[in-house]
Amino acid sequence: YQAKQSGINYANYNSEEDSILRRQVKISQDIKPAIEEGQFYLVYQPILEYKTKRVTKLEALIRWQHPTFGLLSPVEFIPIAERNGNISELTQWVLKTTCKQCKQYQLLDSSMSVSVNISGRVFNQPEMPDLLEKICMTSDVSPSRINLEITETTAMAKPEQAINILHQLTGKGFTVSIDDFGTGYSSFSYLTELSVNELKIDKSFLLSMNVNRNKVIKAMIDLAHSLDLKVVAEGIETKELLDMLSEMNCDFAQGFYIAKPLPIEVLYQWLLSVEKNNLF
Ligand code: C2E
Ligand code: MG
Ligand code: MG
Ligand code: MG
Repeated sequence: YQAKQSGINYANYNSEEDSILRRQVKISQDIKPAIEEGQFYLVYQPILEYKTKRVTKLEALIRWQHPTFGLLSPVEFIPIAERNGNISELTQWVLKTTCKQCKQYQLLDSSMSVSVNISGRVFNQPEMPDLLEKICMTSDVSPSRINLEITETTAMAKPEQAINILHQLTGKGFTVSIDDFGTGYSSFSYLTELSVNELKIDKSFLLSMNVNRNKVIKAMIDLAHSLDLKVVAEGIETKELLDMLSEMNCDFAQGFYIAKPLPIEVLYQWLLSVEKNNLF
């Protein structure tokens, strides 16, 4: 069953595939106990607002210090958690921990919000909006400080349902971004029906060498603005890209040139030094 889902063809079965499969099965089995044992942790990447030259948003990103595999990327274990159903519990842990840590460091004043990634499977659970709201209440964090990132693919999968869910979420005060924008197949007319606040242009566009790259990015920014959406550019790895996106009227920048995702205590110190030295 696992083999079929991971697309492994038994006709060409070999030992390398066997070990990939074993690793996936082990990761799948280990997720639940790892939550209880505290093997997951969060890092936060700052997002810079061009207009104010200040960090006004953070994105929480999950990491797993696995006892035998070492540090695991969410790119590897999130799809597995989505398949085995653990993604719901993991997402609740992420939101709870985000609220707790950001409150502890007093980061969520009225000029700062924090993003949490919501995978398709969680987004489509009917009880999800109430659950997320309850976690915020319990953590004494206003949903208006929490931004939910759903991918373009998630938003487009079940259009009618997505419109309804997004209304519920924004009705509770959450803001919502379309993540990895440009990698799926959006219908632009449908975009106007979604109550979302912002588009995040996928980093593959910024990092691409295509000759039409800049025209495509500019068109996405103008499209978003014409729909009253803010734009975040991901994958800002150089000063040149930071300046170019500013020229293009982009609203926010996120990327390694500004900062890598950092543990909360390191981020806190980083924010202090940025403020003090007027870094951007
Ligand atoms: P994403 O939501 O699009 O997050 C942005 C990813 O881009 C992060 O990778 C971040 O480290 C990376 N990144 C940021 N700036 C740059 C840059 O300048 N250059 C390059 N090359 N990369 C940059 P990360 O942390 O490995 O996360 C990968 C993906 O895993 C995320 O993509 C998201 O889809 C998923 N993910 C991470 N945390 C969570 C979570 O808590 N829940 C869910 N459901 N998914 C998560
Ligand atoms: Mg994201
Ligand atoms: Mg993204
Ligand atoms: Mg992305």
